[in-house]
Amino acid sequence: MRLPRFSSIFRTFFTFSNATARLQSLPRATASFAPVHRAIVLNSMPSIPFLGSLFGTSTSASQKMSHPDSRSDDEWKAVLNPEQFRILREKGTEPPFTGEYDKHYPSEGVYTCAGCNAPLYKANHKFKSGCGWPAYFDSLPGAVTRHTDRTFGMERTEIVCSNCGGHLGHVFKGEGYPTPTDERHCVNSISLKFHEQEDKAAGNGEAK
Ligand SMILES: [Zn+2]
Repeated sequence: MRLPRFSSIFRTFFTFSNATARLQSLPRATASFAPVHRAIVLNSMPSIPFLGSLFGTSTSASQKMSHPDSRSDDEWKAVLNPEQFRILREKGTEPPFTGEYDKHYPSEGVYTCAGCNAPLYKANHKFKSGCGWPAYFDSLPGAVTRHTDRTFGMERTEIVCSNCGGHLGHVFKGEGYPTPTDERHCVNSISLKFHEQEDKAAGNGEAK
């Protein structure tokens, strides 16, 4: 099959991208799936501010939780570009199949938080999910914190950086991937920064 995990992609898109109103056209997107998919998502971008209001409760709830790095929005805006701020601090989602690390499979290295530089995932946690976003079956111990996300009438598990509370994505379980955990940390590339050498990613003040 060309798209063996279409149902998974579909579900991920539905639950992850916020572009629910445009789902109807997805099943017809076969041969030109990727470009159409991308166009749909990009078309949805202007609606993000409206959709952002749907996230109000969970956003304020988790952002008020204390994290070791508790910079204010103004402080984050000083160090993040607008897209990083939208995703990390406002819980946005990058379009699928577009992220820098979607098809990035290094043999070693570490992915750190693009906000605070805390190490989150090792290269060997990453696997090919086909979902359009970087996928990891596990994180570094304690690096990622889970929150229940009840937006859109669904119950999902949001994952944030334990150090700064930056939004990473969501984690899904029991999808049948042949990984040690059968979990998929579905993470925005924009939330991450890759370092080939782990010692350079130890957060020794580089991000501050
Ligand atoms: Zn962080």
